[in-house]
Amino acid sequence: MSAMVQLLPMMEVVYNRKKATYFKMAHSNLRGTHVVAVNHIQAGAVVLIEKALHIQPTKNHPSLSVDPEYQSLIGILDGGSTSAASSTCSSTAHKDAVGRLAELNATAYVQGSKQKDEIWQLEDSHRQARVGDTVKIHGLASEAGKKLNGKYGEISKKDEKDENRFGVMVAMGAKNNKKSKSKSVLRSIKPCNLKTLGGIMRTNAYHDGSLEANLLFKELCRINHACGDAANVNRTIHQGKVYVVAKRDIADGEELLIDYLPLATELGRDRLELLHNMFNFWCQCSEHQQLA
Ligand SMILES: [Zn+2]
Repeated sequence: MSAMVQLLPMMEVVYNRKKATYFKMAHSNLRGTHVVAVNHIQAGAVVLIEKALHIQPTKNHPSLSVDPEYQSLIGILDGGSTSAASSTCSSTAHKDAVGRLAELNATAYVQGSKQKDEIWQLEDSHRQARVGDTVKIHGLASEAGKKLNGKYGEISKKDEKDENRFGVMVAMGAKNNKKSKSKSVLRSIKPCNLKTLGGIMRTNAYHDGSLEANLLFKELCRINHACGDAANVNRTIHQGKVYVVAKRDIADGEELLIDYLPLATELGRDRLELLHNMFNFWCQCSEHQQLA
C-alpha cells in the first residue's frame, strides 16, 4: 500500500469534519462547464472527495463476444494480417478501432446503470457517432434545433441529401410518461451535435488501478486540464473514490485545474499530441501557450 493510500482515511475524516464549500460549477463558451474556487483555498486542503458515478471494468463486456463488429475490431487491434497497408493507414485503423471498442463497451456497460442520465450529462469532446449508435443531442443553436437539445436518439442512416449529417430517430415522448407511447421523429443532425457514451468515457474517465476499472465522476470530471505545474489540484483514485487536494494556494475565483495525464510525461510537442489524441483538444495551459 502506497504512503498516499494510507493517508486517505484521515483525509476523509478532515473533509467530512470541515464540510467547507470550496468550489462551484461555472459555464462559458470557451471553457465549457468548469470548476471555480469560491473561497481562498489553502495548499494541502482536501477540496473534494467523491464516489464514482460509474465504475466500468477495463476488460471488454462479456456480451460483446457474440458481436461481429467486436470480433473484427479485436482482429485489427491484435495486428491481424499486416498485409500491404501502409503504417499511416494501419495506425489510423488502429486508432479508429480503439474508439469503436470504447463505444461498444460503454454502451454495454452503461445500459443497465441507474446513473445513466447523469452519465449522459458529461461532455463528449470527440463526437464520433456512427450509424447504429445511441446518441444524445447537444448544442443545436437554431430555434427548431434548440427543442431537440437534451433528447436521445439513434442514428439510423447517413443523410441522403447531406453526407455530413446523420438521419437520427429522435425520441420525442415525455420520458416519464409511460401512457403515451414515445414517438420518434427523423431529424438531420451534424455529428458535432451528437454525444455518444464511448465519447463520454474517452473524454472523462479516470483509471482506478485498485479496481482495474475506468471511472466517471459527476464533479471531478468537470475540472479542466492543465499540465504539470500549471495544474493547481492533484487527485488520488482508490477503490472507486477520488480524493482531490490543492497543490498550492488557490485564489477565490480561480479555476481549478488538474493534469489529466497520470504520469510525468514531458512537456512539449509529444505531450500536446498525446492530449490531442486522447481528448481532442490542443492544450493552451500556461506551460503550453506558445507551443499550441
Ligand atoms: Zn499543457
